[in-house]
Amino acid sequence: MAETIFQPLPDKPDHPALEVEVLEWWEGQGTFERLRDRNRGGPTFSFMDGPITANNPAGVHHGHGRTLKDVFQRYKAMRGFDQRYQNGFDSQGLWVEVEVEKSLGLKSKKDIEEYGLAEFARKCRERVAHYSEVMTDQCRRLGQWMDWDNDYYTFSDTNIEYIWGFLKTVQERGWLYKGHRSTQWCPRCGTSLSQHEQAGEENYVDMEHPSLFVRFPLVGRKDESLVVWTTTPWTLPANIAAAVRPDADYGLTADGRWVAVARFPDESFVRTVRGEELVGLEYDGPFDALAAQAGVTHVVIPWDEVSLDEGTGIVHIAPGAGAEDFELARVHDLPVLAPIDEAGRMLPEYGALAGFTTDEVAVRVTEDLHERGLLVDETTITHRYPICWRCKTPLVFRVVDDWFISAGEIRQPMLDANDTVEWTPPQYKKRMDDWLRNMSDWNISRKRYFGLPLPFYPCECGHLNVIGSRAELEARAVSGLEQLEELHRPWVDAVRISCEACEREVERIPEVGDAWLDAGIVHFSTLGWHNPEWREHGYATGASAGLSGADLPDHAYWEKWYPADWVSEMREQIRLWFYSQCFMAVTLTGISPYRKVLTYEKVFDERGKAMHKSTGNAIELNEALERMGADVMRWIYCAQTPSEPLRFGYAHADEVKRRFLTFWNSVSFFVLYANIDGFRPSWTELEPEGDLEPLDRWLVERTHAFVADATAGYESWLTVDVVRDFEEYLEDLSNWYIRRSRARFWKGDAAALQTLWYALVQTVRVLAPIVPFLAEHVWRNLVAGACEDAPESVHLAPWPETTPPDRALLDEIAEVRRVVELGRQARSTSGLKLRQPLRRMIVEGVSAARTHEAEIRDELRVRDVEFGHVEAVEVRVKPNLPVLGPKLGKELGAVRAALQAGEFEELDGGRFRVNGRILEPDEVLVERGGREGWAVASADGVTVALDTTLDDDLLLEADAYELIHAVNSLRKERGFDVTDRIALTVPKPRAGTVDAYGERIKDEVLALEIRIGDGLEIEKRGA
Ligand SMILES: [Zn+2]
Ligand SMILES: [Zn+2]
Repeated sequence: MAETIFQPLPDKPDHPALEVEVLEWWEGQGTFERLRDRNRGGPTFSFMDGPITANNPAGVHHGHGRTLKDVFQRYKAMRGFDQRYQNGFDSQGLWVEVEVEKSLGLKSKKDIEEYGLAEFARKCRERVAHYSEVMTDQCRRLGQWMDWDNDYYTFSDTNIEYIWGFLKTVQERGWLYKGHRSTQWCPRCGTSLSQHEQAGEENYVDMEHPSLFVRFPLVGRKDESLVVWTTTPWTLPANIAAAVRPDADYGLTADGRWVAVARFPDESFVRTVRGEELVGLEYDGPFDALAAQAGVTHVVIPWDEVSLDEGTGIVHIAPGAGAEDFELARVHDLPVLAPIDEAGRMLPEYGALAGFTTDEVAVRVTEDLHERGLLVDETTITHRYPICWRCKTPLVFRVVDDWFISAGEIRQPMLDANDTVEWTPPQYKKRMDDWLRNMSDWNISRKRYFGLPLPFYPCECGHLNVIGSRAELEARAVSGLEQLEELHRPWVDAVRISCEACEREVERIPEVGDAWLDAGIVHFSTLGWHNPEWREHGYATGASAGLSGADLPDHAYWEKWYPADWVSEMREQIRLWFYSQCFMAVTLTGISPYRKVLTYEKVFDERGKAMHKSTGNAIELNEALERMGADVMRWIYCAQTPSEPLRFGYAHADEVKRRFLTFWNSVSFFVLYANIDGFRPSWTELEPEGDLEPLDRWLVERTHAFVADATAGYESWLTVDVVRDFEEYLEDLSNWYIRRSRARFWKGDAAALQTLWYALVQTVRVLAPIVPFLAEHVWRNLVAGACEDAPESVHLAPWPETTPPDRALLDEIAEVRRVVELGRQARSTSGLKLRQPLRRMIVEGVSAARTHEAEIRDELRVRDVEFGHVEAVEVRVKPNLPVLGPKLGKELGAVRAALQAGEFEELDGGRFRVNGRILEPDEVLVERGGREGWAVASADGVTVALDTTLDDDLLLEADAYELIHAVNSLRKERGFDVTDRIALTVPKPRAGTVDAYGERIKDEVLALEIRIGDGLEIEKRGA
């Protein structure tokens, strides 16, 4: 045996172990740094990372996005692009606060204030510091190559200052305003929430609430009442008005109740009037005795939006507890009673209800109405109800002051900007447009603690001071600078400035900013926009000092890298990050901050259920990495069509491992024979040339096609295409090329070895971005370890050149494979094993495959192939009921009868015309019968017929194949080397087989002699 050039492979790969070894090797070799050095100064590919919340360990859903980012960065790096690899951590806002509250056992905002804002801010930073480290380890293990020591953190003072600058611009444009409106409010978090945070489906759940029908007695109309319906009894004490639809009919029942006629069609009414006639009537409110209600006159108002699909057609209006109610109050100039405080508890002026939560109030209100005879009916209702996106508490409406950025003037420029963006998948571009068309003004204020301090300093003179930078703050400060540790509460709150209009001393509003401001500004804050001089480690300021070494680049750098060529996040980011970065960038620069977007759907569990820690079906990234390995996970992510949700789980992983094993076995096969024959490849002479067999030429062309197709997949941001191309290629490689070339490998055919090596090398290069570990492992064995002139790492190898493949040749072999596949089908429907040779077959409907008669004969074990007409093929077509039944309905009977009677026409592509309609392939079940003694199969216009008649000679030959199979199994079982020669003993009853086919058997099992004896036996012989 020759020198071992290639390392023999174990039966199957241990992915996690292999990956850890590769990680260490990369680390030791400085592979990533070398790659960056090599590409420095090359063409740029600007990627901007959307920050990940450093708040908990990453789950497998994070792995999805991280993998896609890494795949395309690796791909672009192999193509020589100079890139930025800055990872981002989202590090302030409600996310972090709520988790820190939980860990400290704090239950309310009051608790936080008692705990102390400074200490609370420190705890928030600590949590971020801890989990950013945890996540970094996880992402490294996943194979993500990033500049891990130079991350950006959205809580850095630099980031905050850039947002301040943005807000100042917004104010200068006249878009900033303080709004007083009814808003969705989380009573636990004690803050309002904005449309874009709450818009996700996951923020609505089915909840059961009371459903009350309540009487409002009319003033001056003895024994007449309006009847209203409500599912939020806590809002009744804040009732101001009752709304009716002016154009609807309302009826008075015999017992004195006014309701909409349309809602009670079976009721007989003593009087009926149009809604407009009720408008202006006054009624006694349900809780007029409360101090809050002092001086309120309750009136009936008109409202065109009153629903006649539910309730009574008369709507209770509490302007302080509902968004539409609040708008109606504006129109009709009604008083607004806001019944609850920040924590969702009733205010003191609500008497006996004061201090209770909305749920507690509901019970008391119901009892009270009942006692006073105002309750007409009481049931419950289950409906979709909004919950806080962060803490899952059911939301209420409150009227509060919030800060808004008007969206009016920026809407069209943002739509124009989005028009320049290339979205993958393309249909998501319209989703973004829809969001931009419908977005309301941006509610940027949160009544919270550890977040972006809004730099707003209103003055009693009426002037709103907005600070645009730390320097400006310092210049205008009158006190508090000495204690300003970082731009966070409480330190920043203590800095007072002088009003630029009247020089009065003013203080900051207490609100912090929406976290999407933090993430939206990073195209500016991390790239040094308008920064005159490069500052080393200058980005890592404030809370991020000590966590990152990131520089603050200068403006020239920003010019070079802005806008990003590519960003990629989940689809829900359309209303979050894609939106906020677009809003801020279009405001500041007028153009989109990204040229291309890849977006994708969610990760679910294997049964298609959302993953939640609480339901126990969430999988942590670590656990999956340890159990299945990073490459398997990356493959699962990359195999997913981005517009469809991904199902992730261990069964799925096992499937992927099986596919990897086919590839592994192909490599292993190569290594085995290449070592035996002392094959020595050369990196500079990669592509096989010279004396090639037709099959080799085909594999070279097939490889050209694979490289070209997979490259096109990467170029269109669709890893799913790359995965599919690979799977088809692997099938051709292992199940056609290798299988058909086995005998040549046994004989040490140099052209076969060279061709297979070339195919495997090109495969690992193409797969390297998706499965960086497996590809590296194989590369080091097949290429770096065998060729002195090859790059040490596959990731340092250039992207393979794309050569236009010879498609005519590929189509020709595809046709041969189709004939073989149909032949196999025909065999299996007739119960004929492949080891049973047959006399004859007829093939109809092929052209190029005619020159491959020998291969077809060989593959299908038929002695004679004819190309011609297959006679008398009987086609039986039945309706596929589960598909066709619902589609055809009553027409099904007629279609079925026509099919049964044979009254149909067969069309291309497996379709049929019957009764004037066309049935698709999946709508019918097709059986084909040949003449007696023939097995027939057909598809796509190709038909094959196999002669199933057997004779003695065919049976003997079949036995020879059985024997060869049995001996080879025995060789393997005994652990014989593939090159060992043997002596074979065959039992007496099979002597006839040996007489007829002895030479072939000897050849196939490397037997030097065959003896007849009592049983099947083998022993080693010297050559
Ligand atoms: Zn909340
Ligand atoms: Zn002033």
